[in-house]
Amino acid sequence: MSRPPVIVGSGLCHGYGSGELRTQVLHDVCVEISAGEIVFMTGPSGSGKTTLLSLMGALRSVQQGSLQVLGTELSGASPATQMAARRQIGFIFQAHNLLPALTAQQNVMMALAHQPGWRASEAKNRAAEVLQAVGLEDRMHHLPGALSGGQRQRVAIARALAARPHLVLADEPTAALDKVTGREVVELLRTLAKQEGIPILIVTHDHRILDIADRILSLEEGRLASFSQEFLTNSRNTIAALMRYSRKGELAAQVTTLPAHDFTSFLQRLSEQLTDLLDAMSLLSEASLKSFLGNLLEALGTKVSQMISADRGTVYLVDAARQELWSLASIGGEGLPVEIRIPIGKGIAGRVAATGETMNVPDAYAEPAFNREVDMQTGYRTRNILCMPLSDRAGRVLSVVQLINKAGNIPFDTADQRRFHALAEHLTPLMEIWISLHQRD
Ligand code: ADP
Ligand code: MG
Repeated sequence: MSRPPVIVGSGLCHGYGSGELRTQVLHDVCVEISAGEIVFMTGPSGSGKTTLLSLMGALRSVQQGSLQVLGTELSGASPATQMAARRQIGFIFQAHNLLPALTAQQNVMMALAHQPGWRASEAKNRAAEVLQAVGLEDRMHHLPGALSGGQRQRVAIARALAARPHLVLADEPTAALDKVTGREVVELLRTLAKQEGIPILIVTHDHRILDIADRILSLEEGRLASFSQEFLTNSRNTIAALMRYSRKGELAAQVTTLPAHDFTSFLQRLSEQLTDLLDAMSLLSEASLKSFLGNLLEALGTKVSQMISADRGTVYLVDAARQELWSLASIGGEGLPVEIRIPIGKGIAGRVAATGETMNVPDAYAEPAFNREVDMQTGYRTRNILCMPLSDRAGRVLSVVQLINKAGNIPFDTADQRRFHALAEHLTPLMEIWISLHQRD
């Protein structure tokens, strides 16, 4: 269902000054805002945000282009027509602009005094009602000077909403507030506007509150970078760009605003990129993913053992279901002759898996837990061993890495252990993936 547009601007140009001193501030701006939308406009200081907002609010006359606001064409509009448009709009400014000598309630009533058809008693009740809606029922009779910055800005919201506007325009409403208060104020504004179905355009510098928006426009040097421009200029990764619009309905809201000719090229590019994604996904079929990860662990493990000057080693994974250690990869040497499975608790690696504690064995043949069988099968002579557990984020032993024979025929030391742990902690996510893939078998 498409909603009727509340603002439709096209070809808007605006400049200040005349003759040689004239500077163009807005260039060919096209913009559309629909009923019920919460749109944020960002952009560097001086990019023309306030100028554009004041055109939309009929606070400034349109110089060039067309601008329909709430069904009224503002280009060429008489002062009376501009005034009538203005009356349907609630304004919130950076500085709250509250009158210091009036209470919060009187300030809100002032907004109604300019409107036809509000009797004083009605205005008073309405002011109390909106102040209650912004959570200030117990501050109604305070002067602005006795209110905090956030409370003053909430009075400004109440004032903007009092006359039941059909559109709210807010210019940097959080600029004078701290981060938390600013966010609260904008969230309140959003909630109230959504309840009433009032569209809002909020100019903001504050990137931390952009997630509150249904849609974000960005103005740069007087030019509006629209969604379609974003995709024409940032075509390299359409998928990643689209993924930023994660809120429900947001993506549809953006895509439906694309002009027809942009949509065709957008669709084509998206299709190409989805095809690439599909290719990558099929490359990563489970079997090839497993062998890739196994090779990757072997390669990384070999480099790690090299950096610790070990001659060779083995990476074991803990198979908790079977209570076994499983040799996953050999590092250095000629590779493992066979896949080794060791019960947890048995041998040096099995003991490290059971206790979660590193074992540094300076003389393998003097260590009763050492299993000489592999040496006997292969003819290799193990002298010293550094055997270390690697744990996951929950502290469970995921794997055991056993390094054998330090170069120079000297035992491993604590510096080797430290160096190993500094490197190996980066291997644990890889091992977790590997284990989760194999546990499905
Ligand atoms: P923003 O709100 O993005 O900071 P503005 O719309 O206030 O930008 O200003 C855009 C440019 O127009 C700036 O270079 C500013 O100096 C200039 N400008 C704004 N208002 C006036 C004015 N009344 N007279 C002359 N120049 C102005
Ligand atoms: Mg401004």
